[in-house]
Amino acid sequence: MKRMRPIQNRPSINAVFSDVRVISSTQRARHILVTGGAGFLGSHLCERLLKAGHTVICLDNFSTGLERNIRHLRNFERFSVVKHDVVDPINIEVDEIYNLACPASPPHYQADPVQTMKTCVLGALNLLELAARTGARIFQASTSEIYGDPLVHPQVEGYWGNVNSFGPRSCYDEGKRCAETLFFDFHKKHHVEIKIVRIFNTYGPNMRPDDGRVVSNFIVQALKGQDITIYGDGSQTRSFCFVNDLIDGFQQMMATEPSFTGPVNLGNPGEFTILELAQQVIKLTGSRSKTIYNPLPTDDPRQRRPDISLAGQELGWQPKIPLAIGLEKTIHYFDRLLAEQAHELAEIA
Ligand code: NAD
Ligand code: UDP
Repeated sequence: MKRMRPIQNRPSINAVFSDVRVISSTQRARHILVTGGAGFLGSHLCERLLKAGHTVICLDNFSTGLERNIRHLRNFERFSVVKHDVVDPINIEVDEIYNLACPASPPHYQADPVQTMKTCVLGALNLLELAARTGARIFQASTSEIYGDPLVHPQVEGYWGNVNSFGPRSCYDEGKRCAETLFFDFHKKHHVEIKIVRIFNTYGPNMRPDDGRVVSNFIVQALKGQDITIYGDGSQTRSFCFVNDLIDGFQQMMATEPSFTGPVNLGNPGEFTILELAQQVIKLTGSRSKTIYNPLPTDDPRQRRPDISLAGQELGWQPKIPLAIGLEKTIHYFDRLLAEQAHELAEIA
């Protein structure tokens, strides 16, 4: 096993708590570790936590995360970045941990399945050991993939799932299931305070244009006037949550009583076929792209929709942003990003 990293990984403390006015008198500014903080969800979470007055350490190996996503956060003195792989142990003094480190897009997590499994399992183990040592509350970004190709619809937390243990999605699905097991065993054995959310398909700004997930693929294809690639006949369904709603849910989950561990579903219950999504994107971008049909990937779930009653009861959470509004914001983001990239290419030429 690699040696634990020294405490000097902790960011400089001199500027800490320099602008904590948004913290109310009943709250305390905390040192918060966000693993996967340069990724799509992690970068939004880091920004939220900084704006709430906390000190944030973004830990990332930059495998799918982008420096661009966190560039603007460097203006906060309470923000620091540690380049590190969660597969290796880390020693750092923190009050809270959000574990988001893991590629989430099927092409990315399938590119190196062994690394994905190690990230899910060893990453969870290393961070739980850190939580046990420091007494930090720890949050796990689990997934609707826990339910696999579900035989129960909509999916409730009590459903155990229908997961293939050796298909192309297994490194992720089984890795995330094993991580949940580790979280509960650390909770039972070592009294670690755990918070597990099962995230359903979420989209928004800060996704990579080459992320490979359906919303970013369709928007980028539509903006570039390329064919829109529907896998299968497009009748499979997904429920799409806008990122701002999801981050609200993360914060509300982290603020629950210690006795509430989850797992709790977070997602938007509005359910759409992939063909309907393609039609919406074409309409909202005004694109002349055509839809083309490619083979359906192995083990692609047929339908997915969260039952969010538990999140409503325990967190008082429900998503507010309808698909058309969230798509417009995401289209705007990709439009600007593609223009920036075109400008950079023109400058090089
Ligand atoms: P993402 O790929 O944009 O972000 C993942 C981040 O983790 C990246 O910054 C990446 O560089 C980093 N990372 C990957 N492996 C790492 C490792 N071994 N060590 C350190 N850093 C590592 O994906 P995302 O959509 O932001 O997903 C974030 C988390 O949420 C993931 O754990 C994912 O499983 C979970 N999740 C996301 C969704 C969704 O719809 N976005 C759905 C379900 C679950
Ligand atoms: N999909 C598609 N075209 C694409 C990318 C994805 O039709 O260019 C489909 C994919 O087969 C799946 C759905 O869209 O049925 C959601 O895929 P995504 O990779 O976004 O997430 P996940 O399958 O993990 O829910």
